[in-house]
Amino acid sequence: MTKRKSDVRPKARISRRKMLETLGQAALAAGSVCLERRLSAAGQDAAPAVRPAGEPFFLTRGAVVVLSDLRTLDWPARAKRAGLSTLATHIFPHEVAAFVQRDEGQKFLAACRGLGLQVEHELHAMSDLLPRALFDKDPTMFPLTDKGDRVRDYNLCVHSPAALDVVAENAIKYTKILRATTSRYFYWIDDGRPMCRCPKCRGLSDSDQALLLEHHVLRAIRQVDPQAKLAHLAYARTLPPPTQIKPAAGIFLEFAPIERKYDVPFRQRELPGGGSLAHGRLLDALDANLAWFGRDGAQTLEYWLDLSRFSGWKRQNVKAIPWHDGVFRDDLRTYAERGVRHVTTFAAWVDGDYVKRFGDPPLEAYGAGFRPWRMENGRAVS
Ligand SMILES: [Zn+2]
Repeated sequence: MTKRKSDVRPKARISRRKMLETLGQAALAAGSVCLERRLSAAGQDAAPAVRPAGEPFFLTRGAVVVLSDLRTLDWPARAKRAGLSTLATHIFPHEVAAFVQRDEGQKFLAACRGLGLQVEHELHAMSDLLPRALFDKDPTMFPLTDKGDRVRDYNLCVHSPAALDVVAENAIKYTKILRATTSRYFYWIDDGRPMCRCPKCRGLSDSDQALLLEHHVLRAIRQVDPQAKLAHLAYARTLPPPTQIKPAAGIFLEFAPIERKYDVPFRQRELPGGGSLAHGRLLDALDANLAWFGRDGAQTLEYWLDLSRFSGWKRQNVKAIPWHDGVFRDDLRTYAERGVRHVTTFAAWVDGDYVKRFGDPPLEAYGAGFRPWRMENGRAVS
């Protein structure tokens, strides 16, 4: 494990509130008062005995892991020790559903319950919500490409009533098995794949089509969990906000900046010595999405602890997580200034083998970064 400090700017002497006002961000931060009592109560449980006044600003302080991580590392105990609020599973509904229906999954859920940790499921869901085998029965449920071919490999046609019916039925089935203790649900479209280009769909961007789909899914899963809220994932092809479909109540923004660098603060738009970063484009996309979806419930899905990403998604490349504490803390400020109160990070492949080879992951440092942030008079302060 490396604990190299990065060269971010020295901590300012002025209060965070003054700084926010100076930056003209007060209006952004104000109005983000969202007293989600259940989540904040969980946060109180996880906070240290002595802490500053006010409720925690960051209501979700999470980690997203794959099932093999849960099998080989005591994730619930470690998350609790680090002061996290939430653990989320990943990748596909069918595998997580099978996991929680076995003893090992039940033990995981019981451990989280006992520790007061929330459990969510962040899922690439389309192939489970619309099984690919149905292509043989009715290809019109599936997307049309730019070239005019129907393809079974990914996503759906959001103007196919038959497809939406199947999606709703399966969303209900999986939500019965995979309840989120927070009522926050994550059923994403296929990873990085396009949506439909049929005559009815092609006037809508991929983000608009995703949102139309999410409205159907939300209506369905509320039959199981009346409090359900559903994420709209801004990422890859859906990074730009929709332009035509307005989000229904219960849809919240989830933002995943996969293209960013982790040894440079997210707020930094360009490299000091010249050279461009993706950061500016991503930050602009975040702000445009916050303007479209609102800050209420907004979540960032980060990669600070994502060993799979740092390894190029190749197990043979696994290495110690390059943790830059100053970058991470500066990034939290970037989100706090925008009123984003739900923060989680992928921590895929942080498992038993990782600890054997590299020692403890920087989970304590991750949890510690949230601790100074409180909500006071409707604003983030630290
Ligand atoms: Zn279509």
